[in-house]
Amino acid sequence: MNKVIRWSLLSASLIAILTLTAMNVYMLYDVRDTLIQGEQKKQLALLDEVALNVRRTIYRPYRGFNTLELEPIEGSIEERGQFPEQVREKIVQVANSPVFSAVYYTPANVDPCKEGSQIYELDRKMSLLNLTNQYPQNLCDGVGLVRTKARIELNNFDYRWNTNTEFDAHRSMNIGLINLHENSIIGYLTATIDRDYLINEVITPEINQYFDSSKTTSVVWLHDWANDVVLATNNNEIPFQIEEVQQRVDFGRMFGNWNLKIAFLDNASISLYHATFTKNIVVLGFSVILLLGALFYIFYTAQKERRILQQQADFLANVTHELKTPLAVIQAAGENIADGRVTQPKRLKEYGTHIHQESIRLNKMIEMLLDVARSDYGTTLIHASPHNLHLLVKNIIQQQHPLAKKKGHSIDYSYDSDKAIILVDPDHIKIILTNLIDNAVKYSKAPSTIYLQLSVTNDGFNLHVKDQGMGISRSHIKNIFKKFYRVEDSLSAKTKGHGLGLSIVQGLMGLNKGTVTVKSEWQKGSTFTLFFPEYNMHPTEINNPNQEDSVALISTRGTSTLASETIV
Ligand code: ADP
Repeated sequence: MNKVIRWSLLSASLIAILTLTAMNVYMLYDVRDTLIQGEQKKQLALLDEVALNVRRTIYRPYRGFNTLELEPIEGSIEERGQFPEQVREKIVQVANSPVFSAVYYTPANVDPCKEGSQIYELDRKMSLLNLTNQYPQNLCDGVGLVRTKARIELNNFDYRWNTNTEFDAHRSMNIGLINLHENSIIGYLTATIDRDYLINEVITPEINQYFDSSKTTSVVWLHDWANDVVLATNNNEIPFQIEEVQQRVDFGRMFGNWNLKIAFLDNASISLYHATFTKNIVVLGFSVILLLGALFYIFYTAQKERRILQQQADFLANVTHELKTPLAVIQAAGENIADGRVTQPKRLKEYGTHIHQESIRLNKMIEMLLDVARSDYGTTLIHASPHNLHLLVKNIIQQQHPLAKKKGHSIDYSYDSDKAIILVDPDHIKIILTNLIDNAVKYSKAPSTIYLQLSVTNDGFNLHVKDQGMGISRSHIKNIFKKFYRVEDSLSAKTKGHGLGLSIVQGLMGLNKGTVTVKSEWQKGSTFTLFFPEYNMHPTEINNPNQEDSVALISTRGTSTLASETIV
């Protein structure tokens, strides 16, 4: 139940942290987008204003044109070759606008596309119409456009205007004059546009008024898209690039080939926000990592402590059980002898052996517990002196082999050198090797061979203890040197142990300036490697009391540089 609550709380906290982070990031992006969009909308409104002002400049001279009586034009032109007075005033007003270079009038029955046609041109100085056949060629296009459009409009009965306007791109403004009573076209007024004036004196100043390059970071271009030419800009330093353009605005029905294009470069408030935005994201990222790290760390250490507590409780139960077993045997045997129930010398010997063996077992256990306690408090004493590792190993094997043999295992020992001098505490080496051999026996199925191999390295000696047992899987291998750690599988479960042996091995190897490493493959076997640094001293100084015994007890096969011996 507790486990469920712990995991649920961890998951809930994780979800809460992630949700809060996601919300924050979303909000930051949202604020940024809103700010950018707001800023861009403002700029776009200004661009619209530029286009609108240009259109106003073009239309301004025509103000009041719609209210004129146009019907008298036909008669007046036919009779005097001039406009009626009212109309003349308005047309002179148009002709006086510097945007227009000239004003022409084409009666409805004249086709300006035909060569040699006579149309009227307004003489600006005299404000009079003169017949001429010298007019710009594109006048034919302008009149053609407005004629087609006006004819369509005349078929539309809802049409209530006496004029109809069409632009021939940026070249001319053409007005169809309509007789509303007779539903017919009177003629066409064409005002040719002064392109240079329009660009340099109308559009450029408008752009600069709204987009002063010293105040804005937006770049505006007047672009002739048909010819891909930039006609005006507020910032000559930034070349026109179509990929940079974010919005475009046209001039309504005027100047069909031209439009205004804008690129929003970051302005000060957006740049400032970008800096804050990056800072926010970085701080948020760090905080989240920190929070997650702390959460995982707390959870992990709590789990670990729980596991250790559990292991210690198991250990205590285990130890108590282990201590009680030999004690019970000793107690029963002692009681039987004391009561005088056992008198036969053979039985007495048997009981004595039992008591002896069990007290050895008890002693071993107590030693082990003391080892753990000492290494826990860092009070393990070391009595190091130079020793020949080869002889130490031989000696220990000689003591261990009966136990291994009893369980159906043999020990094979080979060595590259019989002069491996190291500075160690021999009692420690005995504990270390006994533990490793004991494990190799415990975790291998009989019959099997346990290989011990002494090899020479650059700066010392390796002692490998290799078995062909159950091996240790990758996930467990990093933990096996931890105190109380036992691999949870069927063979380990059946095998007695407290998870202390390897922790003692590692602690003692450290004290003796050596290291222990392990390589293992699941179901194939394990190799524990002990490394001892070489101790340089004269061989006569070597102190090994068991040297003679070892040599006598174990027969040596092979040479002194590579020898091997098997104890079965
Ligand atoms: P234990 O008293 O359980 O043997 P150790 O500290 O000696 O404690 O070993 C820790 C664990 O490492 C063991 O429980 C066992 O699962 C695993 N282990 C140790 N040596 C071997 C080996 N030679 N082969 C397979 N597993 C081993």
